[in-house]
Amino acid sequence: MRAMAFTAPGRPLVERELEDPRPAEGEVLLRVLTCGVCRTDLHLLDGEVEVPQPPRVLGHQIVGEVLEGGEPGARVGVPWLGWTDGTCRWCRAGRENLCPSARFTGRDRDGGFAQLAVADARFCFPIPDGYPDLQAAPLLCAGLIGYRTLRLAGDSERVGIYGFGAAAHIVCQVARHEGRRVFAFTRAGDETTQAFARELGAEWAGGAGEAPPEPLDAALIFAPAGELVPAALRATDRGGTVVCGGIHMSEIPAFPYELLWDERTLRSVANLTRRDGEEFLALAPRIPIRTEVTAYPLDRANEALDDLRHGRFRGAAVVVP
Ligand SMILES: [Zn+2]
Ligand SMILES: [Zn+2]
Repeated sequence: MRAMAFTAPGRPLVERELEDPRPAEGEVLLRVLTCGVCRTDLHLLDGEVEVPQPPRVLGHQIVGEVLEGGEPGARVGVPWLGWTDGTCRWCRAGRENLCPSARFTGRDRDGGFAQLAVADARFCFPIPDGYPDLQAAPLLCAGLIGYRTLRLAGDSERVGIYGFGAAAHIVCQVARHEGRRVFAFTRAGDETTQAFARELGAEWAGGAGEAPPEPLDAALIFAPAGELVPAALRATDRGGTVVCGGIHMSEIPAFPYELLWDERTLRSVANLTRRDGEEFLALAPRIPIRTEVTAYPLDRANEALDDLRHGRFRGAAVVVP
């Protein structure tokens, strides 16, 4: 099969002809229809998150057609959480997202920037009807992690979103559907993205350094910039929550305790549970969430990653083998 392989940090993906993968017991063999590109892929490329055993096929938002090991022809989604032990204290407590032995798709197992992929059948989700292959892909990480990030913000009414990319464009729709008010923060002067946020229901959009017109009850941070943490705390009302939704962030600058005072909460979101996936994929078609995607052929996966790095598209990038 053809694949785009990660070989070492700091290097672009390399197009390779790899041996076709074979499914083990309990695994499905998939023909990859589409695979979403995620900011985590940039962190892997840049060595900010380690790929333990390169070479590795990245890509953890796989929409695939079952060839073997399941119902032939069925469409399934493969998310970032690829395997857990099921026995540790976190798994047994319903917190498999924190499993220390977890294996992640496109990091510990080969992912979807390839023509074929195998996945543990227990960690695949059915793709909801009504979502074409391209539009479904960003639901599997941007959507899922975005959803978990919003859940961890509790029942906050005024929600700020820092970094209006793939996750934000989905979570904004969920928040509006739930009757919340959305305030979008982008790079300073990025009027295109601010207009996009308003189209999706944000009542205010501005630069990340700006103060919102009223204090926030929660702030969700999707951009990997540590300086957004004190900025978001400053924009948040007493008792509010700031949730960091990314796997990596640059160093958080020191800030005065008064920004955290008055029972503000600062927390991160790590990975997903299968329950998040089931809940979110049931909710998506009911809203219905619409994803905006830019498609790239497999051999141009590096271009997709580069465009993501430089914010050259609205919504999400999706690779099509
Ligand atoms: Zn991701
Ligand atoms: Zn575990």
